[in-house]
Amino acid sequence: MENQAIVIGAGAAGLCAAERLLERGIEPLVLEASNRTGGRVHSLEGFADIPIELGAEEVHGPDNAVARLAAASGMDLVHHLTLDDVLRLDGKLVALDQAQRDPDVARACDFIDHLGNYRSENWTAEEFLVRSHFPRRAWHYLDSRLGVEHGTTLDRLAIRGFASYQRGWEARETNYTLAGSYGDLFRPAAERLGARIRLNAAVAAIEWGGDPVVRLFNGGELRCRAVVVTVPLPMLRDRLLHFSPQLPKEKFAAADSIGMDTGMKILLKFKHRFWDETTYFIHTDGFLPQFWAACKGKASASHVLTAFVGGTRAEALDSMGVDPVRFAIEELDEIFGGRLASRSFERGLVADWGSDPYVRGLYSYPTPQTTEASREALARPVEKKLFFAGEATNTHGASGTVHGAMETGWRAAEEVAAVLKG
Ligand SMILES: Cc1cc2nc3c(=O)[nH]c(=O)nc-3n(C[C@H](O)[C@H](O)[C@H](O)COP(=O)(O)OP(=O)(O)OC[C@H]3O[C@@H](n4cnc5c(N)ncnc54)[C@H](O)[C@@H]3O)c2cc1C
Repeated sequence: MENQAIVIGAGAAGLCAAERLLERGIEPLVLEASNRTGGRVHSLEGFADIPIELGAEEVHGPDNAVARLAAASGMDLVHHLTLDDVLRLDGKLVALDQAQRDPDVARACDFIDHLGNYRSENWTAEEFLVRSHFPRRAWHYLDSRLGVEHGTTLDRLAIRGFASYQRGWEARETNYTLAGSYGDLFRPAAERLGARIRLNAAVAAIEWGGDPVVRLFNGGELRCRAVVVTVPLPMLRDRLLHFSPQLPKEKFAAADSIGMDTGMKILLKFKHRFWDETTYFIHTDGFLPQFWAACKGKASASHVLTAFVGGTRAEALDSMGVDPVRFAIEELDEIFGGRLASRSFERGLVADWGSDPYVRGLYSYPTPQTTEASREALARPVEKKLFFAGEATNTHGASGTVHGAMETGWRAAEEVAAVLKG
């Protein structure tokens, strides 16, 4: 069989698309710009005694595509209850169940719990909080639970878009991580596809006036009958992939209306654990809104805290030119006192997704400009030749997630099959 379909990108969406194409009897070729498969799934070996996730880490719900893949691979999920979180309030670390007795925190928790009912003005979350005179003391908790969760900050996240996402949120008051690693979960698919995946094959342009021609930056040229584009949103939004003829205007309008910000994970390994054994998330009132215990519940003797920051805060961190690892340690020293973090610090690492030339950010989120139609327009095939997948094209409320990306890969492959197999 010839390459009937070219899949651009070997992340979760691209791998699922290629496997489903094969199942439908269509020969795929996956072109991946970087030197590895997985995209925003990237498990780092060697930093701790277990793989540490540089990209996706949580499984958002007990019954979705990732959870099912984990079950089929014999990999357990680790449960983390929101009540295991601690919150910094008035300069002290307080267990969340205690903190909830504070009226301002209780109001913030109540707001998150009932967010799914929000159908009013499409303000940013920040605008909503200002307009409703939301107590400032608890803003940082919302920043961590809402802003960071969406890879951005409250001044950019649209509250109505977030609410519809929240309605489809399966996990509720439980977070799940994998007992193994995300890398282990996707490695078998990459192995099955084998030589059908070409690494270091960055696509520069797609000419689709006739039968599609895909041009690589290294000068290669490949022909096929259908192209599945799974590149992250900024690659389309910032016109980094060239289309000839140009894509319909609605495609760019959709890409422009959806947010995806720069951001990073800061990994910090310590000789000793100075946080409580039961703690998973630490919601802080500092500049970095949250840290979590990356090895909690796993078969590990390592002590790793991960900080996560996106949106305007990540941009500020970049522009200040500070060392993020040093900065995070200083924040932890302030939070825990006694220079506990500095004294126990062993090594640090920054996974800066904004500087990855083929990702350019964290994951997509709704802005006030994002409408119900935005993601549908982004996902819509063009002239039975170009098909679109990737987390940002998920129209079922699972954008910004791995399971959402997988669903789009399968959906795009079925669209290709419907055209090529009639
Ligand atoms: C720090 C971080 C934390 C996250 N945490 C979670 C989490 O806890 N839970 C969760 O469910 N999700 C999480 N996500 C989101 C999740 O990782 C993504 O939604 C999902 O992995 C996206 O898959 P994808 O296939 O759509 O895109 P990607 O994985 O980005 O794949 C796209 C691929 O296209 C390639 N590419 C780009 N341009 C070109 C080109 N021109 N030519 C060829 N190839 C190209 C890229 O190199 C990349 O490999 C997180 C993401 C990040 C960054």
